Formats: sequence, structure tokens, C-alpha cells
Amino acid sequence: MTTANLLEIKDLCAKTEDKEILKGVNLTVKAGEVHAIMGPNGSGKSTLAKVLAGHPSYEVTGGTVKFEGQNLLDLSTNERSIAGVFLAFQYPHEISGVSILNFLRTALNARREADMPVLEFRKLMFEKMELLGIDKSFATRFVNTGFSGGEKKRCEILQRALLEPKLAVLDETDSGLDIDALRIVSEGVNILSKKTNPGVVVITHYNRILDYIKPDFVHVFSGGKIIKTGGAELATELESRGYDWVVQAAA
Ligand code: ADP
Ligand code: MG
Repeated sequence: MTTANLLEIKDLCAKTEDKEILKGVNLTVKAGEVHAIMGPNGSGKSTLAKVLAGHPSYEVTGGTVKFEGQNLLDLSTNERSIAGVFLAFQYPHEISGVSILNFLRTALNARREADMPVLEFRKLMFEKMELLGIDKSFATRFVNTGFSGGEKKRCEILQRALLEPKLAVLDETDSGLDIDALRIVSEGVNILSKKTNPGVVVITHYNRILDYIKPDFVHVFSGGKIIKTGGAELATELESRGYDWVVQAAA
């Protein structure tokens, strides 16, 4: 039996101002698959995540992105979220004076026709917190204010658990993820993968996260595109040999 493709990226090219960054990205993700995208700094990995989110600084100059068969690039950022795409970025904003509970309720209601009653929302949120092993006191803290890296990730993963996206794209590339945060991200990915069977794309240049998440596919990203794809063993090989041999072989 073949499962339909959740995400289908074909020959995607994108630029910012006059700089071409994505130069023909091809990637197909099915429900339940975990894909890791790894590669040197500056190769365009975060740009790919931002283009998928519909970030206004980037212009798509070629190629297509389909999500469940519909043209993702035609949708607004909000419509992408409603369609079931979740994107997590490295630098979450601090929102002082807004509790996690209210923040998450707003995020969830933005995707619904009618608001979820407060009590129902609280029940759902506490269920998800229990599932993820997050302490109840977390709900009343202000979003990201004075949070450690790990706590920011907790907030993000809780948001993901509530939204139950079909596709989660996690850009964990840049510095600032300590071991605690990495562990929280990975455990969250693993728990939610078991429960809701989403497609997951984890963008990282640390192999460390792959000690906790077992990817089905590992892609090497270089020069604005994917230049090699393998299984989990490719990550181990990259760890011992670096990226240069892949880049040279693809040149
Ligand atoms: P990675 O995540 O793989 O480290 P990025 O996608 O962040 O790579 O960046 C790819 C390249 O595009 C880099 O050379 C970066 O400087 C450039 N770039 C990314 N975003 C912008 C932008 N908004 N304006 C100008 N250059 C950018
Ligand atoms: Mg990056």
C-alpha cells in the first residue's frame, strides 16, 4: 500500500533581494515519516523553512510546493497553519503579560470557526501537558519571559501538541539549543509522532538531536538544494566524516 504524499517540493527556487538562495530543492514527505535535513551553515536550510512558512522576505522564483495536493505557495501563512502545517523557529518571541494558557488558546482558536470554551480548552491543555510531562504550573507563566532554552521548547512543543498539525517543520539549526532543550524537542517529536502520525522535517546541523530522534531519511543540504539522501546511518557517517566528501561527490 502506498500512502499519499503529504508534502511535495519540486525544483523549488527562491531568492531574497538579489541573492538566489534556494536552487532547486526536491523533497517528498509522507505521513509518519521523520526527515532530517542537515548541512553546512549558510547553505539555505533556514530559508527553506521560512519559504514554507510564507515569510515575506523571500520570493519564490521557480518550482512548486504541494501540501496534500494543494498549492501551498498560494496560501497565506495563516491558511498554511489552518491546513495543518506547523513551523517552529529558533527564536521564539517573548510576550510579557500573556500567559501560556491564553497564548495557546488564541493560537488554537485562530484555527477554529468558533472559539473553544475556556473550560474545555483548559482540560485539553492539561491533557497535553500530562502527555508531554510538563508541570501544570507552566500554564500560568508569561510566554517566553525569562525562559530557559528548554522552557521555550516546552512552550513550542505544547503548542504543537494542541494544534496537532499534519506536518511539523522544526528549524533547530542555529546555536542556543542546550542539551536540555534538544532532549525536550526530541521527546516531544517522538511522543507526538506516536500519537498523531505527522510528517516531520527536522532541520539541524547538530547530529546530537539525531541521538534522540530516529529519522527515516537524512538529507544533506548544500548550495541551496538537497545533494544527498540516505537513512539514519548517513547522519553517523556525516558525524565522523563531515560534509566535504558529499559536497565534492555531488559537484
Ligand atoms: P542555513 O540555515 O543553512 O545556515 P540560511 O538559509 O540561514 O542558511 O542562509 C542561506 C544564505 O542566504 C546565507 O548566505 C545567508 O546569509 C543568506 N540569507 C538568508 N536570509 C537572508 C536575508 N533575509 N537577506 C540576505 N541574505 C540572506
Ligand atoms: Mg539556519
